[in-house]
Amino acid sequence: MKLNQQTKLVVAVAIFAIAFGIFAIQFLFRGNDAADFANAVVCIDADTGAVVKDFVPPAGKMMPWEGKGYKSLYAAERCYYTKDGKVKSEPTYVLVKRLMGKDEETVCPDCGRKVVLRNPSPSIELIEQARKEGR
Ligand SMILES: [Zn+2]
Repeated sequence: MKLNQQTKLVVAVAIFAIAFGIFAIQFLFRGNDAADFANAVVCIDADTGAVVKDFVPPAGKMMPWEGKGYKSLYAAERCYYTKDGKVKSEPTYVLVKRLMGKDEETVCPDCGRKVVLRNPSPSIELIEQARKEGR
């Protein structure tokens, strides 16, 4: 009877340990995903002009970054304007020349406005309104 209870206890501890292990692994992986998601940036490849979304820059490395099959990735700026000066919900991603060390102004290929580093965005309300209106 006593042995049987000890066996039950061992089984219970083993089940708890396995459950805890699975939980811990899931928690750790989810933590990594969340961190990657937070660190991900939209990049533009200077060689091809390709827009690369969800790129996680290598820690401690300066631009240009390499990855996802590209060799000259720079963080993209967002331009939320249309040619007629309205706000749109999906930005145009622009590679600002100053980021590549070029002392030239950069204009948005879509609307022709000047784009600068840390390009100011319209308010969330205007972007949300543009989304509702299908722009
Ligand atoms: Zn634009």
